[in-house]
Amino acid sequence: MSASRPSRTAERPPPRADSTGAAGAQLDVHVDAEAVQAQVTASEELARLGLWEEAYQQLRGALEQLHGLDQPHNPVTAELDQLRQEHAAAREQARRDFLTASYNRRYLDDRLSTLLDDPSVTKAGMALAMVDIDHFKKVNDRYGHPFGDRVLQRVVAELDAALPDGAFCARYGGEEFALVLPGCEPAEAVAVCERARIRIDRHRWLELDPELRVTVSVGVAHTVAQPPDVEQLLVGADVLLYAAKGAGRNAVAFRREGGRVALAGPAGARRDIPQPAPLDC
Ligand code: GH3
Ligand code: MG
Ligand code: MG
Repeated sequence: MSASRPSRTAERPPPRADSTGAAGAQLDVHVDAEAVQAQVTASEELARLGLWEEAYQQLRGALEQLHGLDQPHNPVTAELDQLRQEHAAAREQARRDFLTASYNRRYLDDRLSTLLDDPSVTKAGMALAMVDIDHFKKVNDRYGHPFGDRVLQRVVAELDAALPDGAFCARYGGEEFALVLPGCEPAEAVAVCERARIRIDRHRWLELDPELRVTVSVGVAHTVAQPPDVEQLLVGADVLLYAAKGAGRNAVAFRREGGRVALAGPAGARRDIPQPAPLDC
């Protein structure tokens, strides 16, 4: 190793038991080869775990050692960096719904499973809301599917706006969306959903058509179970969504302490709010 080359000792994996500092000084080439091999092995292991960014870092470190840090435009590392960017773009695309650009069902399922031991969730629990566009079939029937697609895109933009940190919106299927709110208290989750409902109701739909009105119904479930039972949370949100539909649509349904179903905001004054069987969320 040339004296001018910056040391990468701190970034290397720990040396093997038979590699002493003295031997390293004498057999510089051997130590480099060993460190490079360790980084390649670490990279393979990280890639196997799906930790792509970390895997690239290890591989880049190995390549820098093999090809020299002092080359300003090293074609090998440049190619690796380009691969990394392309991989990041492909991965982002695989997470997104093609039509609305919201996260897709695969991302939702992956995140729900990784959220189980998220520190914010273990502290305050989590909320999950199911959102369904009201009478969307009529929109398609009246204006056609391409128009309906544009409505879907605008609904997603309104759902995505003003979500708290760590929360996200995913397309659950068709005209249904899930809002996942990790570490969110029940009252805050209901308030976030009610604001989203109002934004959609008040959106300037007349820009698409003067007679168009679009509303959504929402069911918000919350759990403090450790770990959260995601399946039950989804069922709970779904039951509440259908309570909101049954109570006249354009409303956010949630459970009060004790399990009674209520509607947020002005819809709370409605008389006939269905009371489905209590669930633990
Ligand atoms: P409700 O208020 O009870 O939810 O009534 P709805 O008409 O919204 O529900 P229904 O399940 O009867 O119809 C859902 C419609 O959503 C039918 C389907 O064609 C439409 N839809 C689902 N996915 C898409 C899509 O990607 N684009 C368009 N344009 N329409 C879609
Ligand atoms: Mg639906
Ligand atoms: Mg619908």
